Amino acid sequence: MQFLNKLIVSFVKLLPNSIVWLFSKRYIAGENLEDAVNLVKSLNEKGICATIDVLGEAIKNKDEALEDKSKCLEVLEAIKNNNLIANLSIKPTQMGLGLDEEFSYQQVSELVENAKEMNNFLRIDMEDSPQTDATFRLYKRLREKFNNVGVVIQSYLKRSYNDVVELNKLNTNYRLCKGIYIEPAEIAYKDRQKVRENYIKILEEILKAGNYVGIATHDEYLINESYKLIKEMNIPKDKFEFQMLLGVREDLRDKINSDGYKIRIYVPFGKDWYKYSIRRLQENPQIAGHIVKNLFGIK
Ligand SMILES: Cc1cc2nc3c(=O)[nH]c(=O)nc-3n(C[C@H](O)[C@H](O)[C@H](O)COP(=O)(O)OP(=O)(O)OC[C@H]3O[C@@H](n4cnc5c(N)ncnc54)[C@H](O)[C@@H]3O)c2cc1C
Repeated sequence: MQFLNKLIVSFVKLLPNSIVWLFSKRYIAGENLEDAVNLVKSLNEKGICATIDVLGEAIKNKDEALEDKSKCLEVLEAIKNNNLIANLSIKPTQMGLGLDEEFSYQQVSELVENAKEMNNFLRIDMEDSPQTDATFRLYKRLREKFNNVGVVIQSYLKRSYNDVVELNKLNTNYRLCKGIYIEPAEIAYKDRQKVRENYIKILEEILKAGNYVGIATHDEYLINESYKLIKEMNIPKDKFEFQMLLGVREDLRDKINSDGYKIRIYVPFGKDWYKYSIRRLQENPQIAGHIVKNLFGIK
C-alpha cells in the first residue's frame, strides 16, 4: 500500500499545476497576503492563533532573498494593521542562508528587529540536515541581541536531544516537531515509535528547563502524551502551546482549543506553493489516492 501511495505521489508530480492546486488549496491560504490575512482573521475569531509563512525556499540569488524579506516585512505590517493574533515563520534558506551566512543574518536580523518594534515574534523554521548547524548559528547570534526569536527542533534527528540541552541555556523558545525531510538513517531515527519517544524525551527536557515550547504535531498519541506530561509536571499555560498545519486534523485542532489550550496554526501563502504542497502529499499519500480516484471517477 505504501509503495502504491508513493507511486501515486510520483504520478501527481506529473500533473499540471492547475490540477495539483485543486488539492493543495486546503493547505494554503491563497496566493496573496490578503488571503492569509482573511484566513487568520477567521481563525482568530475562533480563538485560534496563527503563524504566517511566505512560501518560498532555496532561492537562487540574493535578489530573490531580498524580495522575500520585503514580503515578510509586509506580513508583519499586515499583522499589526489588522490586529491579528499571529507571528511570522521564515525558512532560513529563503533568507539566503545557503548563499551567504552573514547576508542571511542581516536579513533575519532586520525582520526580528521589525517584529520587536511591533511586539511580535519570529520563528526560524528548520530545514533539512545540511542546514541544521548553520541555522543554529544564525539563531544563537540573533539570540544575543533579541528575545523575540525562536527555533525548531526535529525529534527524528538523533542529535536533537543534545541540541536542546545546549539551547536550554539560552532560554530558547522552541517549536518541537517530528521533522519532515527525508534524512539518512545514520543521523535520523526511522522507526515511528522511536521518533515519538524522542519527541517526548525532548519535550520533557524543555519543560523541565522552564522554557517555552510550541508542541507541533497532529499525532493524537503525542498530543495525549503531552497532555499527560503537562499535567504531571504542573506546567503553567503560559509555557506552551500546540501547533498544527493549516488543513490538517481540524477536528483535533478544535478539540485542543475547546480543552482550553492555546493552539496556533501554520498558515502558508504565496505563489510558490508547489514544493510545499508536494511535501504535504508525501506525508499523507492517502490524499493522493483520493485525488486519483476522483480524477478518474473510481469508486
Ligand atoms: C506548526 C508546524 C510547523 C512545522 N514546522 C516544521 C519545520 O520547521 N521543520 C520540519 O522539518 N517540519 C516541520 N513541521 C512538520 C513536522 O515535522 C511533521 O512532518 C508533520 O507535522 C507530521 O508529523 P506529525 O507529528 O503530525 O505526525 P504524523 O504521524 O505524520 O501525523 C499524524 C496524523 O496527522 C494527519 N496528517 C499528517 N500529515 C497530514 C497531511 N499532510 N494531510 C492530512 N493529514 C495529515 C494524519 O491523520 C496522520 O495520521 C511542522 C509541523 C507543524 C504542525
